[in-house]
Amino acid sequence: MNAYLLAKEIKNGKSAEDHIARLLEYIEKKEKVINSFITINQESLREAKEIDKRIKKGENVGVLAGVPIAIKDNICTKGIKTTCASKMLENFIAPYDATVVKRLKDEGALIIGKTNMDEFGMGSSTEFSIIGPTRNPWDNDRVAGGSSGGSAAALVADECSIALGSDTGGSVRCPASFCSCIGFKPTYGLISRYGLISYANSMESIGIFSKTIKDLLITFKVIAGRDEYDNTTHDPKAIRLEERKSFRVAVIRETIEGAEESVKKGIYSSLDKFSSIAKIDEISLPYLKYALAAYYTIAMAEASSNLARYDGMRYGLSMEPEGIEWNRYYMLIRSNFGEEVKRRIILGTYILSAGYYNRYYLKAQKVRNLLRLEVEKIFKNYDIIVSPTMPILPYKIGEKIEDPMMLYLSDIDTILANLTNIPAISLPCAFSNGLPIGLQMMAKYDGEDTLLNAAYAFESLNDLS
Ligand code: GLN
Repeated sequence: MNAYLLAKEIKNGKSAEDHIARLLEYIEKKEKVINSFITINQESLREAKEIDKRIKKGENVGVLAGVPIAIKDNICTKGIKTTCASKMLENFIAPYDATVVKRLKDEGALIIGKTNMDEFGMGSSTEFSIIGPTRNPWDNDRVAGGSSGGSAAALVADECSIALGSDTGGSVRCPASFCSCIGFKPTYGLISRYGLISYANSMESIGIFSKTIKDLLITFKVIAGRDEYDNTTHDPKAIRLEERKSFRVAVIRETIEGAEESVKKGIYSSLDKFSSIAKIDEISLPYLKYALAAYYTIAMAEASSNLARYDGMRYGLSMEPEGIEWNRYYMLIRSNFGEEVKRRIILGTYILSAGYYNRYYLKAQKVRNLLRLEVEKIFKNYDIIVSPTMPILPYKIGEKIEDPMMLYLSDIDTILANLTNIPAISLPCAFSNGLPIGLQMMAKYDGEDTLLNAAYAFESLNDLS
């Protein structure tokens, strides 16, 4: 059930305990197929009971009271395992809640479980996980997208009312597109990363999955804003949903040309409807062809640095060091990372090593700057930039896993927003042969008000629920 409606009903006397009890039963059945949770939080039942009691007493229980929320397993939760879908953190329990988790709990939300993902957020299909792939709710032989695939699938399979993910290079928007729900990545710094386990920190944000824009906004207002534990944070500008009717929209030609025929069709037919309230132009962004190389260069460099902390001593997996020489100990422990994570640590270390730093890392940073300037230019004349979220439809599990290049290429349309730190959202726009297609909207830095209003207008014209 939608978060907004559910919270309202619970406040009006619907039993949160009953709701959660039934949900936990349902999840147990559903999970045999979907595999969207790494950990299910049975404690949520007791917490729901608590909410009911407090409501009876007339206490103020918060705007999300009783609403079951799923959290990606790279966001720390006190007392519940946070594994990053990795053997390295298989039994790790964080001693504190991430800021987003704390803020959700303060508003009465219930953490229903921790969701499956690609190990440390590295991937686009949720296949690189210690618990195996999450299955797409629309076609169980296909991937759910990634890396926050568990969160998107859990929401779409009705296992929660809201889900959180993280988006470093499309990891919220890709699974939202593949599973057909809303996936939102805010402006960099609007949602605290305190308690989010880092992958590529200069590009990543915690993001929100929801079924409606209204639900999204309620959640965003709860978790967004300055946090003294993350000094990259700032407060969002005021956002008011209203019936706006004149958006200036730029569609990036290169992203349409690069998309599969069925995706193109879906995007165009939904834009046709949108054109009743928007002026839509096609524009060109020629530098986009360098974005993917720049993204993966920066992401791997930052990953190699961020993942250096898994040394078998401070966090997670460790073993009896007695009699083992230090280099060997380090090597043995770190051999427990999955193949994809190892690949990125090795490449990232290479990219940052003396002599190659200028050639690769610095060059990538220059491309990043160039893209930022280009995007700023477009926003002088347009409110919204549009593209497909993914150039392809959800593919078969196992189909691309052998060829990392194929996986990387599918991120071509989402990474622009991470490189330039602007807000972006994926919206369900069409189906092709029973498989979902997502449309992506981006707005300028701190342009959430425009972005969410455009998405709200789009939602009312394209109701796929
Ligand atoms: N596919 C991208 C990557 O592997 C997405 C990562 C993300 O957003 N966490 O880097």
